[in-house]
Amino acid sequence: MKEINRVIFTKQMKKDYTLLLPQMLPIHFEIIKEVFTNNGYKAELLTNEGPSVIQEGLKYVHNDMCYPAQLVIGQMLDAINSGKYDKHKIALIITQTGGGCRASNYIFLLRKALERANMAYVPVISLSFGLEKNPGFKLTNRIILQGFAGIVYGDLLSLLSNQTRPYEINKGETNELVQKWINILSDKFKNNKGYIGYAMKNNLIRIAKDFDNIELNDEKKIKVGIVGEIFIKFAPLGNNHLQDFLEDQGCEVMVPSLLGFFLYGMENAKYDKQYYGGFKRIMSYPIKKIGLNIVETFENMTYKNVNKVTQKFILPKGFAHMKSLCNGIIDHGVKMGEGWLLTSEMLELSELGYKNIICAQPFGCLPNHIAGKGMIRSVSERAKDTNIVPIDYDPSATSVNQENRIKLMLSIAKENMEKE
Ligand code: SF4
Repeated sequence: MKEINRVIFTKQMKKDYTLLLPQMLPIHFEIIKEVFTNNGYKAELLTNEGPSVIQEGLKYVHNDMCYPAQLVIGQMLDAINSGKYDKHKIALIITQTGGGCRASNYIFLLRKALERANMAYVPVISLSFGLEKNPGFKLTNRIILQGFAGIVYGDLLSLLSNQTRPYEINKGETNELVQKWINILSDKFKNNKGYIGYAMKNNLIRIAKDFDNIELNDEKKIKVGIVGEIFIKFAPLGNNHLQDFLEDQGCEVMVPSLLGFFLYGMENAKYDKQYYGGFKRIMSYPIKKIGLNIVETFENMTYKNVNKVTQKFILPKGFAHMKSLCNGIIDHGVKMGEGWLLTSEMLELSELGYKNIICAQPFGCLPNHIAGKGMIRSVSERAKDTNIVPIDYDPSATSVNQENRIKLMLSIAKENMEKE
């Protein structure tokens, strides 16, 4: 196979180039974009959608590849070709997990796509811990800490806003509050504040108080949880604005946290060491364990502080509990894609009262079909009254078909709710 040259992102480029970030979670990524801006980069979050995105994806990514790869790469190429940017003054940034799943290879697919589109000169930066190095891009301690804090804040803003938006008496109040907090946090990060210790705790309390003050009606809504492959579960581009659709249908939605995915990734080191051994895995485990404990402290701090302010919101019980839920159903060594996390998330949502679950499955994703769709029977046997529907997402699937299947699920959910 022909090797593709990597274009290095230089220190000079840091001054002149704009980093384009693909969209995944609108609240979290807005905060993360600000983290880059506040640390000396010109950064822009892509928001382009529509048929041209997948057309570009299919044009430059092999059609056997995962649907999320086609969308992420398609969104970037569509943006570059929009005429909005100077093609010689942009760089693309993409995550690289380093796991066994194809997500680690999206970066190579992106470079290949750029080459095929005669834009091999565009630098692509790997957002990872040390997989690729660029002199102009460094994950400093400040960026890492602000990034993690951004994820914690993003998770909390999503969790609380999802529980107020469907019931708010003053329409639009929840979204305004979310935007207000994105602006506050961005300002704080810029001044090197608000992302550790007491300042962070104080912000979490203030966020909980603000959402607690939103006036709500006492309407009864169908509670729906969304699980699935990380991009399709979270990104409106990937799931055809699933959450908006569900809220329009009169539902309240819960989506698991992004922090849970990071904790899952760190926890896997334990099973790598246990099942596969090897000097490198055994030596790196203690460091990953310390990282896991620190991130878990962030999670506990969040729920503890919300609970101090109000009991109005449904809060998850934390990573350790969630992990234990799939014991006896799927092994914790199943860690390709979302692996055991997906099964545990379905059980957690059911336990929290979100008994209607959509399992969002992308085309080309074998691991999540096993840990998601493949586990529905076992989950339903354990959590008896859970109503799970797998929905497939691929370039040819129309949103009408997906919505019709979801409406069918909702009609069963409505009957169940009326019986109750
Ligand atoms: S989780 Fe599925 S969709 Fe995502 S990279 Fe892996 S195989 Fe592809």
